[in-house]
Amino acid sequence: MDTLISLVNRIQRACTLLGDHGADHASASLWESLPSVAVVGGQSSGKSSVLESIVGRDFLPRGSGIVTRRPLVLQLHRIEEGLQDYAEFLHLPKKRFTDFSMVRKEIEDETNRMTGKSNQISPVPIHLSIYSPNVVNLTLIDLPGLTKIAVEGQPESIVQDIENLIHSYVDKPNCLILAITPANQDVATSDAVKVSRQVDPAGERTFGVLTKIDLMDRGTNALDVLEGRSYRLRNPWVGIVNRSQEDINRKVDMIAARQREREFFTSNSDYAHLASKMGSEYLARILSKHLESVIRARIPAIASFINRSIDDLEAELAHLGRPVSVDAGAQLYTILELCRAFDRVFKEHLDGGRPGGDRIYVVFDYQLPAALRKIPLDRHLSLQNVKSVISEADGYQPHLIAPEQGYRRLLESSLNYFKGPAQASVDAVHFVLKELVRKSIAETEELKRFPTLKGEIAAAANEALERFREDSKKTTLRLVEMESSYITVDFFRKLPQEVVNKGGNPAPASVDGDGHFQRIGSNVLSYVGMVSETLRNSIPKAVVHCQVREAKRSLLDHFYTQLGKKEEMQLAQMLDEDSVLMERRQQCAKRLELYRSARDEIDAVCWSG
Ligand code: GDP
Ligand code: MG
Repeated sequence: MDTLISLVNRIQRACTLLGDHGADHASASLWESLPSVAVVGGQSSGKSSVLESIVGRDFLPRGSGIVTRRPLVLQLHRIEEGLQDYAEFLHLPKKRFTDFSMVRKEIEDETNRMTGKSNQISPVPIHLSIYSPNVVNLTLIDLPGLTKIAVEGQPESIVQDIENLIHSYVDKPNCLILAITPANQDVATSDAVKVSRQVDPAGERTFGVLTKIDLMDRGTNALDVLEGRSYRLRNPWVGIVNRSQEDINRKVDMIAARQREREFFTSNSDYAHLASKMGSEYLARILSKHLESVIRARIPAIASFINRSIDDLEAELAHLGRPVSVDAGAQLYTILELCRAFDRVFKEHLDGGRPGGDRIYVVFDYQLPAALRKIPLDRHLSLQNVKSVISEADGYQPHLIAPEQGYRRLLESSLNYFKGPAQASVDAVHFVLKELVRKSIAETEELKRFPTLKGEIAAAANEALERFREDSKKTTLRLVEMESSYITVDFFRKLPQEVVNKGGNPAPASVDGDGHFQRIGSNVLSYVGMVSETLRNSIPKAVVHCQVREAKRSLLDHFYTQLGKKEEMQLAQMLDEDSVLMERRQQCAKRLELYRSARDEIDAVCWSG
């Protein structure tokens, strides 16, 4: 049976090492699944005295006002008869205290370390283990006493702060409440009973402790309370006689005090019939027994909590990834893996599976055709303009045949307009690709840990996109220039000839007036329309060829080449981990280890029955 409680003791200490303590509501902690006993009551109700007499040693700080300003988690460990008592603090792992007055001093000092000398309180518990042949295995939590008003040096909120702190322990359904009430006070006004009633209305996990029975007025007794008539609890009330202040001043020792307490109950005719169920020793025994049964009942829940935590931690660790290796080969390998992970995500964006790649087709299907339509050919091929270009190129004299130079100039200048939409398509696709790189970097889970490498991959990818853009620009411009360099003369030959004489000679153009120039304008317009149709198809091909296909094939090629030349140091720098994540991984690993050993311990206890 004792193994059960020492198991809980071990797990509780693990919780504090992990920074998990009862008052921390933020995370469902292991602590919260463990049973414990909290001592609750008004100031000077006798809490410290009860704790000390359960332990059988004087070691708690005393004084007026709130002396207990941090929770004290007191773990009692029974050791073999004849061995020397000693105490240990969790915050002073290697120090054994055999002088208990030094324990008291350390509690005071450690309280002040956290709260300063002010009368402030802190929810961070002090852990104290006491090893003694005279105790039973038990975990007790001493809490600041409930108070009604703030005193010197305390904020007004202190009354509420203390109540909140107490509630952070006693609200938990697996916390047993040691409700300390002084017998010389009406039980109806007891602070401890009030708290217990709030959180444990059925009285199932409350132990009523009536102190100061020796201080009751002559002619009165505590039987109404002790026999459950005043306030009924599941577990019977236990009456206690602690040392009075005078006893303390006279240094009456604990053994003598216990002896006197026993005598008080056996020799007092009011209480003799209850004597075997009164006193601090009895209280310690029933508490321990009760705690054991509670723990036993809770083992499955604790085990499943631990297993769940282990699963969560393992999943988180897998998510955070393995620690980075130190040798250059492995680092290079890791970097390449990460690049590939990014590349995979990027390709999914382009090939479907992830959104965004379709934006490229919006460029080809809508933006490019719209830009082509907007080319101001009507204005450029207006009668006025055609006339002036032709007369400038071929002179004002009547042409024998079609004005060759004028045609060419009109065609070239019209085709020049296509450079704009061609470049705009290149740029638009460039920005789509750039955005996809940004998205892919953000979406590559594996990269999250490595801000430096993330930055380098982003820079390398953008640099590559810039190169592809230049190449694409050259290619698409070349397509446009090619259209100007060689005109498909056949196109014009097939056009209906203008005013041709029966003999086959063209009539002098001048005779024709404006109609002649209008026809030239419309001939050029239909030629340019044909070219526009061609470019509408060939520009996307060039853009996909130079930018999209290259991005898919060789986005990081240049980066890879450079990687090969890097020194070990530089590789390590690229893998500089995000410090927050690194810390988180270490924390997870530490917790995991603790939970795993807790699981092993529970398994062992379950098997030993
Ligand atoms: P706490 O503030 O609740 O921790 O109360 P203490 O344990 O410090 O007790 C306050 C005072 O009441 C001390 O002077 C104790 O000696 C005294 N006291 C506590 N319990 C008893 C008791 O059962 N009988 C007598 N006579 N005095 C007691
Ligand atoms: Mg006290």
